[in-house]
Amino acid sequence: MTTTAPVRRRAATGSLLGLALGDALGYPTEFDDVPAILAACGPWRGMELPRRALVSDDTQMTLAVGHALRAAADHGALTPGSLEGPLRAEFGTWYRSPENNRAPGRTCLTACGLLADGDRRWQDASQVASKGCGATMRVAPVGLVPGLDDEQRSGAAQLQSGLTHGHPTALAASDLTARAVHLLARGLEPERLIEELRTYALARRTRYPHDWLGDLWTRGQDPTPERFAARGWDECLAILDRLQEAVTGVSPETDPCLATGAGWIAEEALATGLLCFLWFPGEPLTALRRAACTSGDSDSLACLTGAFAGAHLGPDAWPGPWTDRVEHGTDLAALGALWDV
Ligand SMILES: [Mg+2]
Repeated sequence: MTTTAPVRRRAATGSLLGLALGDALGYPTEFDDVPAILAACGPWRGMELPRRALVSDDTQMTLAVGHALRAAADHGALTPGSLEGPLRAEFGTWYRSPENNRAPGRTCLTACGLLADGDRRWQDASQVASKGCGATMRVAPVGLVPGLDDEQRSGAAQLQSGLTHGHPTALAASDLTARAVHLLARGLEPERLIEELRTYALARRTRYPHDWLGDLWTRGQDPTPERFAARGWDECLAILDRLQEAVTGVSPETDPCLATGAGWIAEEALATGLLCFLWFPGEPLTALRRAACTSGDSDSLACLTGAFAGAHLGPDAWPGPWTDRVEHGTDLAALGALWDV
């Protein structure tokens, strides 16, 4: 049973702006190690948002998912049928955009290229061997849309992953990330978050959402859909254990990637993004800077940390001069205003 405090004020706006700020802060350092970042930026606790605060594929694709959810809402209740078309359309728009030059992931490019053929089923475009972080980094809107039940939220999180990243761990990590954003936006205290995610993962472990994923599982090598699902949830449960130990057992002065992974893959992006948030639950800027100053996928990690911190604290977590200049800030704030409660 989940007990939550009152709903956070304007959690959706806080989360969407937070993820863009993390993305923009980490984008220049994505491929650098910690010594190189410190040499370029000075002490990590003072990292400044670039004057021209460009976001990367993380925020671009988050907007694509957000716009698809908004379009699906025009058809009434969120269903696999109402969401697939808008997701394909938005991913296609992103794929063809001249601004799709911000270090996009290979899995997304490959799958979106295949999705461009409207006659191809999405399951035949999905990259079932890929558990890159590209579907996890963009899933926050699914956790922020009001009025979904647990099955819709889980199914939508996994479907938006499946269109590009069909590996069961990518599906499960996307589901868990949306769950974390949702719980924080609903007022769950951060110290209870890992326990809640573990309980959720154990409950979902052998449940394959047939309505949402169809026969995707047959592209893997598992004997049953339940075994396919469990493979992903088990990898997520294992990293939640590592996360639990790291929150209290590892100094936040060290590179978080050493504790829970570099974040190029889905479950590590979730865990290391959460680690930076949980080290500093009341200091969102410190959390964001810690995530951006890492040896791993700095923009995706800081993007996720920003999504969690913003869902927890709302938009007041972020400095006005930063939110005023981050790329796509107006678009993100408009989506957030639609979903804020
Ligand atoms: Mg990126």
